[in-house]
Amino acid sequence: MNLKTDLGTLAGAVNGKLLKGDPAAPFTSFVTDTRKLKCGEFFWALKGAAYDAHSFLPAAAPCAAGFLAREEALAALKDLPPAAVGVADTLKALQDLAAWHRQRFQIPLVAITGSNGKSTAKEMLKSIFACAGETCSNAGNLNNQFGLPLSLLELDQRHKYGVFELGASRRGDIKEIGEVARPTCGIITNIGPSHLQYFGDLETIFETKTELAACLAPGGTLVYNYDDRYLSRLNGRAFKKLTFGRDPGADLRVLEGNNLRLEYGGNIHEIRLPHAGGHNYLNAAAAAAAALSAGLDFAVIRKGLENYTPPPMRLQELHIKGATVILDAYNSNPQSAASAIKQVFGMPKPLYIMMGDMKELGRHSAHYHTDLGAALAHTGAERVFLAGPEMQPAVEAYLAAGGKTLVYAETLDGWLGEARELIGAGKGTFLIKASRSMKFERIIEGL
Ligand code: ADP
Repeated sequence: MNLKTDLGTLAGAVNGKLLKGDPAAPFTSFVTDTRKLKCGEFFWALKGAAYDAHSFLPAAAPCAAGFLAREEALAALKDLPPAAVGVADTLKALQDLAAWHRQRFQIPLVAITGSNGKSTAKEMLKSIFACAGETCSNAGNLNNQFGLPLSLLELDQRHKYGVFELGASRRGDIKEIGEVARPTCGIITNIGPSHLQYFGDLETIFETKTELAACLAPGGTLVYNYDDRYLSRLNGRAFKKLTFGRDPGADLRVLEGNNLRLEYGGNIHEIRLPHAGGHNYLNAAAAAAAALSAGLDFAVIRKGLENYTPPPMRLQELHIKGATVILDAYNSNPQSAASAIKQVFGMPKPLYIMMGDMKELGRHSAHYHTDLGAALAHTGAERVFLAGPEMQPAVEAYLAAGGKTLVYAETLDGWLGEARELIGAGKGTFLIKASRSMKFERIIEGL
């Protein structure tokens, strides 16, 4: 973080009061983690769900360079550090500062939301942008109300491009951080039942993700999946858009084939994506559309996508002693599970599917696990292994649909040994998929 500003400007940008300190004194960076604060640094007090950093102020006062905190918390302190800015709400102030800082950069800045594929599309676009200039992007998975502003505050003069993913778990979340990012291009990858427990229904997920459209910078472009049942509703709306998808109506069309082939403006561009295809072709098309909107051409897009290093555990193809393992254990929900099953259909037989609970579906859990169980009965899999309490309805649906080769256990440990032995035998294709907390990557540990 190198903000190159001063205390007076900081106080103005966050609608705060400079309670102590010289307005002309330089202000370049700050720390929000109490464990990381070193003497001489400026501390920004945030209140999280479990912890309020304001309780740390008295201990930090003798050594910090300054505080930004709630005004009444500062008023209650016996001693203030050399600088102090008081505000009504420190998270709102963080977002205000990030919005102010972002406006200092006239660069293509892309914000990505959607139910699945945000990180993958972000990494792909980052790889494309990196071929054209220095690119700023979320640090780790800092993509929420706190993380997105902190990520934007990393922008500096070196950066020619920005690409940030925006996370959401309730209505209004995308509006809140989208207005901070004010992207020149917004991507919505798709709408599906992920984090359904918090959203309640798919309609709310659609409304939340599409809040991004109203957050675009003037003249900004919205990129979205034309094939998506919900997003296709945007077709009639009046804003600048660039769509991607397999449907012939999409502006940037993904053609079937062994390599990624993108059709745009009557030309076909073939790209060797170093990643299993399936939904990643759509993620690559989303990234390509955003790159086009930033004025880049297909030579750069091809180079970026071919250079890209896939993040681990997302449809990661591994070869273990002759067996093909599709490790998709990063996360699971109904949309990404269906997509992963489609992905393994054409792969070497016999097929083995190992799946665990799809979490965060709330009251819809039994419904979606039932659908999954029925679908699994028609995959032709040699054996299906399921684990987790929420998979019970999938077991019933699988058997009711005529499936015959199921192994079920309450926890992964119930069949972990058997699964490892099968993979070790080195024959066929293994799909491994579950929600993060199920830790299904354990299946291949040591193999
Ligand atoms: P996010 O950042 O939105 O959580 P990731 O790129 O990290 O998405 O991928 C999370 C999971 O979703 C992985 O299992 C991945 O294989 C799957 N996935 C990624 N892109 C898509 C897509 N376009 N459609 C369906 N599933 C997807």
